[in-house]
Amino acid sequence: MDTPKIDFETLALHQQHTHDKYAHLQPIYATSTFTFDSAEQGMRRFTGEESGYIYSRFGNPTTDATARAIADLETWNITDTEGQPLQARALLTASGQAAMSTLFISTLQAGDAILATPSLYGGTHEFITKLLPRFGIKAYFSDMTDIHQVEDILKQTPEIKLVHFESPANPTMQCIDMEQIVQLAKRYNKLVSVDNTFATPYLQQPFKYGVDFIFHSTTKFLNGHGNAIGGVLIGRDTAAMNGHILHTYKLLGANSNAFDGFLVLQGIKTLALRMEQHCRNAMDLALFLTKHPEVEKVHYNGLSTHPDYDISRKQMRHAGSIMSIDLKGGYQKSVNLVNKLQICTRAVSVGTVDTLVSHPASMSHSGIPREIRLQTGITDGLVRISVGLEAIADIIADFEQALR
Ligand SMILES: *Cc1c(COP(=O)(O)O)cnc(C)c1O
Repeated sequence: MDTPKIDFETLALHQQHTHDKYAHLQPIYATSTFTFDSAEQGMRRFTGEESGYIYSRFGNPTTDATARAIADLETWNITDTEGQPLQARALLTASGQAAMSTLFISTLQAGDAILATPSLYGGTHEFITKLLPRFGIKAYFSDMTDIHQVEDILKQTPEIKLVHFESPANPTMQCIDMEQIVQLAKRYNKLVSVDNTFATPYLQQPFKYGVDFIFHSTTKFLNGHGNAIGGVLIGRDTAAMNGHILHTYKLLGANSNAFDGFLVLQGIKTLALRMEQHCRNAMDLALFLTKHPEVEKVHYNGLSTHPDYDISRKQMRHAGSIMSIDLKGGYQKSVNLVNKLQICTRAVSVGTVDTLVSHPASMSHSGIPREIRLQTGITDGLVRISVGLEAIADIIADFEQALR
């Protein structure tokens, strides 16, 4: 079928349905297992001779519809080397951590190594430094804004199989030049994966630059409303995704469920609209905070003073809605600020419709040793803000009174 060329916003709304043709929305298939017409049919489904559902840990119409919708957005308007629409396969997972661990465990084995940026989500950092080494997989780190450093490590360390980074990275909004890193990694025959949680496919599509795998914590912007933990892993190599990666996913029990899948699917419909407003509010708040006498530094890639402003402009539609700030009074001043907020929500997580404010050093990044934390710019007093969709005047007024 020749599908018409449609814009991102339209694609996000008009998701493909599974089954029930006349249900307006994707139904929630709250079922653990699926029936067979005959024993032979069950056998054919297990051998793969016949497609069809078997058991919800292997696949479910609702979670598959959500995975498909995200794969469609991540590949939107991208063509492969033959000029055909880029194909990708996605697996919906129980969490962002489940997407990450499914990828790393399915692509790496004992003797392999992973190269990552030091600026990582706390859970990813702990997983590769504490858990993977128990299975004989080593972690190397490199500042990926320094291409020569990356090349030196790749040259000296042939066991590196996968290069992984986040851009923008949590919580300093460091951005990595994806085109440059992928080109280099491909020269050394490495796989590349990106955690695209902070940007979402609306702001940035890593597949454009030849990245192999993308994962998200759908808990954040894709869901948007903070009502479910979830994740998604998307790969361009559909044979690998349907082969050893799906196999690992089934064995790990990394699957999501129909209800959470439904919630993410609803959230995605307003992704473009939400991201526009998130980013507009973030820029206004960043400009306000930059001028505030109590604020030492605003880490926001949308400001021309941010070291990665140019890279961010090059590969992102807008800069995103997350920023972090250092206050002049350090730790105690930060604690006071967080305590005095009256409208913004004190909570970890990002990407919900309301503004969330947290303290990375004692919360999301408390599992990372202090000296590594400091190296990646997470000072003891750093405050992270995920700017929501409230009226911007109310957000600014809340910070104004809390900073007084
Ligand atoms: C939240 C988050 C994760 C982990 O996702 P969960 O859904 O909490 O498992 C991974 N990466 C980034 C950038 C995140 O913000």
